[in-house]
Amino acid sequence: MVDNHWIKTTCAFCGVGCGIEARVKNNKVIVRGDKQHPANFGRLCSKGMALGETVIEQGRLLQPQIEGQTTHWDTALTTIADTFQNIIDEYGPEAIAFYLSGQLLTEDYYVANKLMKGFIGSPNIDTNSRLCMSSSVAGHKRAFGSDTVPGCYEDLEKAELIIITGSNLAWCHPVLYQRISAAKQLNNTLKVVLIDPRRTFTTQIADLHLAIQPGTDVLLFNGLLHYLEKVNKLNYEFINNHTEGFTAALHVATTETIDHEQLATILGVSPHVLTQFYQWFAEIDNVVTLYSQGINQSSCGTDKVNSIINCHLATGKIGKPGCGPFSLTGQPNAMGGREVGGMANTLAAHLEFNNPHHHELLSQFWQTQRLVKQPGLKAIELFDAIATGKIKAVWIMATNPVVSLPNTKLVETALQACPFVVVSDCMMETDTNQYANIRLPAASWGEKSGTVTNSERRISRQRSLKKPSGEAKPDWWIITEVAKKMGFNQAFNFKNEVEIFKEYAQLTAYKNNGSRDLDLSAFKHLTDDEYNNLAPIQWPVTFSNQLTPNQLTKNKRFFDDGQFYTPSKKAQFIAVQFKPPASKVNTNFPFILNTGRIRDQWHTMTRTSLAPRLSTHIPEPFINIHPVDAYKQQIINFELARITSSQGTVIARACISEEVKPGQVFMPIHWTHVLSSNGQIGKLINSHVDPLSGQPESKFTPVTLSPWNYQ
Ligand code: SF4
Repeated sequence: MVDNHWIKTTCAFCGVGCGIEARVKNNKVIVRGDKQHPANFGRLCSKGMALGETVIEQGRLLQPQIEGQTTHWDTALTTIADTFQNIIDEYGPEAIAFYLSGQLLTEDYYVANKLMKGFIGSPNIDTNSRLCMSSSVAGHKRAFGSDTVPGCYEDLEKAELIIITGSNLAWCHPVLYQRISAAKQLNNTLKVVLIDPRRTFTTQIADLHLAIQPGTDVLLFNGLLHYLEKVNKLNYEFINNHTEGFTAALHVATTETIDHEQLATILGVSPHVLTQFYQWFAEIDNVVTLYSQGINQSSCGTDKVNSIINCHLATGKIGKPGCGPFSLTGQPNAMGGREVGGMANTLAAHLEFNNPHHHELLSQFWQTQRLVKQPGLKAIELFDAIATGKIKAVWIMATNPVVSLPNTKLVETALQACPFVVVSDCMMETDTNQYANIRLPAASWGEKSGTVTNSERRISRQRSLKKPSGEAKPDWWIITEVAKKMGFNQAFNFKNEVEIFKEYAQLTAYKNNGSRDLDLSAFKHLTDDEYNNLAPIQWPVTFSNQLTPNQLTKNKRFFDDGQFYTPSKKAQFIAVQFKPPASKVNTNFPFILNTGRIRDQWHTMTRTSLAPRLSTHIPEPFINIHPVDAYKQQIINFELARITSSQGTVIARACISEEVKPGQVFMPIHWTHVLSSNGQIGKLINSHVDPLSGQPESKFTPVTLSPWNYQ
């Protein structure tokens, strides 16, 4: 672990999960890329390199507060436990909600989920990962029978064609972009296709760019399925032996995309470019399709995911080196949260609500009679329920929903009206914690210890570099103390994060008998030292008597044997029909607003804004507008523009650019009310969600534009 005082840990930002080596020198944290970490092999992006600069005392919440007054931990925790109990007694357990974050460590997530679903007895626990990749989870479950990412990063170097869709990889998963760039240098036959309505920085590595009309992804991939059949490039051996539902999926795809020219027109690309993409997919054996928020954040995100998976199943391009559909998670531990059930519609360790056996198994394992039987409210529904008074208490951990959720006005109103709001955060001033009755100081990156899982299912350790600031505590400690004060002593009597991780590993072993994907059985007898020294490893990590890397059964790819986790063991094609986005542009709101991240900021900037050099890249909220639209709307480059949707208005700097097509505009998600009183994009976004995944449609909001009038 320690090499000349360098401590191996993991980056706290995106889901690439880069390994970092860090040391504290003269009270400052210095970081460098970990050359041995299989996610990044020493590479870091601008955010990762500045991570050390964010570990400072400035702006930290240092002591618990009740109604703004400093208090002792014991008083704060007792107040929370007593208030929760009073609310449960009066309104029932479902009047309590937790809203978590992909920033939490797996151990934090595990105990939060256990407390809520297993002991309080409320299913109303959801996470900001709902905004990030829940459509992928739903798509995986429909196709594979489990939420399983089939491939690994190594496939990027083994692929001959990489399709990047719905992602500005260069800015949002920069180290994967660097890996693909490096792979292209070594392999001049490697082709990259970028599918994105915008001409982003990622086009620099693209051999082909399909700037499709926003929301038409299902048509694009249905067209591909149809094309594969037309040119006789379907893998019938794989389809017949390992899948079900192909005929219906092909029928829908064919019916929708019968005329290639017409399809190209609807997609907004030239027929030639469309054919080139389809040809490459058909003719190249090793194909990886990377996808992210542009696919997931949609009112039909799950269908989009399945339209991609359908094409890989139809060609057998899955479970093999250099092949597969590959969902990229946004946050550092979005995957870990999925594993331990930190979402309202899963139990824990990939156990499911709709399976009575799973319910019984988890009840036995946790030794509880209170385990919830039905899924709870997903993020948007959860805040709606707070607004309508159905939920009386909410505990928000490590996230800033007043900025990040759509329709932020409703979120603010909900929190204002909620009788009891608890916020655990490392920062004093966030847009959310001003609504808190109780503020709890949480340990930050560099102060806490546990595990995270990245997009390729790789579990890595986050290690503490220094003592927590002030009286800050790890999230798992805060949660278990509240649990104990509510009377659940035995179930939450964890001494440290190692004991929590071991219980989670034991649960995967207990439920598995080797029959399902998420298996950490090798870790169930882990010692403290082994946990502390744990090297990054992908699950499944199946049983061995001695925990040495060579004796662990490692499986980089799932489905290499053509077996899936459905009852028939066959993958399911889903017949997905194109549906337009939930909102439509009209004369009042004629422009489509797309949203996304910028290179040097992370989420609501609570930490990245602490590193001044990260703000030099793009210092303020902006809106990309096509020159033709800017001219029509009389908006001048670099002057302020007013952007209005049916939900609200924000002000941002106009950046006139051909990166966006006419009729489309783009704004970044990061700025908060605390940082920029008028640039908070959540005010514009409506609450339309995918009916299966509950993921909001953040990529398609009709807006209108005008110059900002100083008077
Ligand atoms: Fe951190 Fe992601 Fe950058 Fe890697 S790519 S250094 S995980 S922000």
